[in-house]
Amino acid sequence: MEAFSNQTTQILSNYTFCTLKKIVKNIDNSATKKQDMIRSIIFYLSNPKNEANFSFMFPKELLNDLAKILPDRNLKCICEKTNKNNLILCRACNKKQHISCMGSLSMLKFYECTACMISKMNPADEVLDFLVFPYMIGQQTIRKSFNYTENLKNEVFSSKSGIEIQFRCIKLQRPGYCMSWPNKADLYINNVSVRKFKPSSSSSLSKRKDTALDLSTIFKIGVNEIWMIKDLDNEIYALAVVKVHKLTNEEILKKMSAISMLKDKSIEFIKAKFSDDNEIKSCSIRLNLKCPYTLKTITIPARGKDCSHLSCFDLITFIDIQKYENYSWKCPICKGLAYEVYVDKYFEEILNNCRKITMLEGIQLKEDGSYDEIYLEEEDNSLKRKLSDNENLNKELKKESEYVLIKDSKPSRLNAIIIDD
Ligand SMILES: [Zn+2]
Ligand SMILES: [Zn+2]
Ligand SMILES: [Zn+2]
Repeated sequence: MEAFSNQTTQILSNYTFCTLKKIVKNIDNSATKKQDMIRSIIFYLSNPKNEANFSFMFPKELLNDLAKILPDRNLKCICEKTNKNNLILCRACNKKQHISCMGSLSMLKFYECTACMISKMNPADEVLDFLVFPYMIGQQTIRKSFNYTENLKNEVFSSKSGIEIQFRCIKLQRPGYCMSWPNKADLYINNVSVRKFKPSSSSSLSKRKDTALDLSTIFKIGVNEIWMIKDLDNEIYALAVVKVHKLTNEEILKKMSAISMLKDKSIEFIKAKFSDDNEIKSCSIRLNLKCPYTLKTITIPARGKDCSHLSCFDLITFIDIQKYENYSWKCPICKGLAYEVYVDKYFEEILNNCRKITMLEGIQLKEDGSYDEIYLEEEDNSLKRKLSDNENLNKELKKESEYVLIKDSKPSRLNAIIIDD
């Protein structure tokens, strides 16, 4: 604030008494001395509520001069600094961050800020509020304090609320959104060490599983202090304390299935896949309509928000499987992050039509979005055709099977195939 005041004084001093007088009149102030006028203008400038009026109150030239020093209200970075150099815009919250602070995350095709990532990274634990907004730790130790109210404590301890206070952490250099704690670090709350992070030992086969820390019962009512001391490596992390609401699988399903891609959009998506030079080269593609996890026919066809493939996974299974996959929310098809998904309404319609057909193997999807059904039977027929094409082989097999039959009365796998024919 003091730096802002000094810099603004310097800028305003270059303006004539007349110009300042006009501004002071505009902002409804009666100051008459130059120093007083400057002080009242600074006071007016520092109130965010006045921002919308700046363009009416100040000459363009002055606004240009102030642009460099006026704080950007949309700038919210984990470094907590306000310089406006080299910013990147989060596609989800429209807040700006420093490219240098975001590291390789800023290079993601669909950039989202750490606050958005931390709040969306586990749809099973819906973030309601930040008790400590994401902040950066590198080699320095930062102490953060926040107020733990009686009301919040009551919510946490009420068995029905499903409210939990979590400490979350992501590694900034890693292009991903998964929970990742420093290799080696100590976490302190109110001067007490509450958790030590150690790297997975080389002797153990399983890698350390990084999940959110439930700190619900650790805080005292009033101001709490939290800090983490990590190893002096070059890794940079963003940490946050969040209030979450734990959802049941049914609630997650309801929330996730509420977002869908309508039929015409889906057909557009299919056409784009076929017309894109680097994508599908033929004029149709075979899709099997089976869930990649269970290999059963998909019930609710879904894809991750950023998935670029045509195949869908089954949303119900995707949600069920998360507890075994450490809530990583990775698409089973492309392995990309899929904490935000949508239901494909056109595929849902295809599945509804196909479900009535027994022996359906999949569909042959054409470049205009239409499709043909592929039946299991056709598969068998084509297999038989292939076999009869090679009659010699067929005869050889027969001979061999007869030989097997004579030799051993128990049917073997080989003669079983031939007898079926
Ligand atoms: Zn920053
Ligand atoms: Zn954001
Ligand atoms: Zn995917």
